[in-house]
Amino acid sequence: MTRELLTIVVAAFNEAEALPILHRRISDTFDTMAGDGLDLRMLYVDDGSTDGTWQAMRVIAGADRRVAVLRLSRNFGKEAALTAGLDRVETGAALILDADGQDPPELIPQFVAKWREGYDDVHGTRRHREGEGWLKKATAHAFYRVMQRLSKTPIPTDTGDFRLLSPRALAALRQLRERHRFMKGLFGWIGFNGVSIPYDRAPRVAGNTKFGLWRLWNLALEGITSFSTAPLRLATYVGLGTATLAFGFALWIVGKALMFGDPVAGWPTMMTVILFLGGVQLIALGMIGEYLGRIYEESKQRPLYFVDDWHPAAMGVSSTGIQPAGGTPHAHGAATARSEDA
Ligand code: UDP
Ligand code: MG
Repeated sequence: MTRELLTIVVAAFNEAEALPILHRRISDTFDTMAGDGLDLRMLYVDDGSTDGTWQAMRVIAGADRRVAVLRLSRNFGKEAALTAGLDRVETGAALILDADGQDPPELIPQFVAKWREGYDDVHGTRRHREGEGWLKKATAHAFYRVMQRLSKTPIPTDTGDFRLLSPRALAALRQLRERHRFMKGLFGWIGFNGVSIPYDRAPRVAGNTKFGLWRLWNLALEGITSFSTAPLRLATYVGLGTATLAFGFALWIVGKALMFGDPVAGWPTMMTVILFLGGVQLIALGMIGEYLGRIYEESKQRPLYFVDDWHPAAMGVSSTGIQPAGGTPHAHGAATARSEDA
């Protein structure tokens, strides 16, 4: 019997309190999955925490041989931390969870069941979100809808990073090395068959959110600029619109001057027009700047993250030591080989 490998990938930034609680819940869930024919691993990524998250991770890894821990050289942000984690899942599938318990690990068996039905991208879609402010919920709601309209990439609504990726989806994702990483968009961009699992999002088990409104706004800008050039086109349309209006206005002024002469007047109109056009031009420049800045960042070709410390799971990725009948390590060998099916 071939045993498949599933790694739970968790990015954590200052989650010293929440992580042990989450680990407990994940291993309890793993216990219920014994006999599933799955090898299960956890990979915790410390995204440059300053609060003892790394120490907590080391303690967890010391006590549980299934746990691998990775520490980045500084805080690179959740998208880079997830990338770092997924880069290290060389075999089998990966399932991404938030460190704060908002994505219930108890649903892992449901995700696995869908994966076994042949889906490559099983994602959790939030039905309710608890413990989050109305403003965050409302803006998130609006964001997913705007994104859908602006972008050709299918990005499922109300769907975060809570998802299981099959080995081939992972291999595909690994080829996308852009610096500005809007993961929710990248997951959608790679395609393959996806399916969503509705769930209720619980409040955090401990600690505070790292995504305030300003950070979310920036994430939204990242999403829009990474997956749509609609704002650039908008500038063109606004320009066309104003030019048309200006042309009509010019005809009207010239006509008026021809018929009624031209007493010097019209300072208010002139100011209005100048200010309006100046504003429109600045907005358009700003939008171009958003893209230009991103081109600049991409062109530097910097690595996406640096690793400070890495401890693979003591148990390795091969298996729990249960040899297949006949003693040939064939099945395990297949599972340990680097995935090259990209
Ligand atoms: N996170 C991270 N790096 C960061 C910020 C957040 O790895 O720079 C992790 C965080 O530890 C958590 C997940 O991303 O596991 C989601 O963050 P959070 O719960 O603060 O966001 P929210 O659920 O409030 O949107
Ligand atoms: Mg959270």
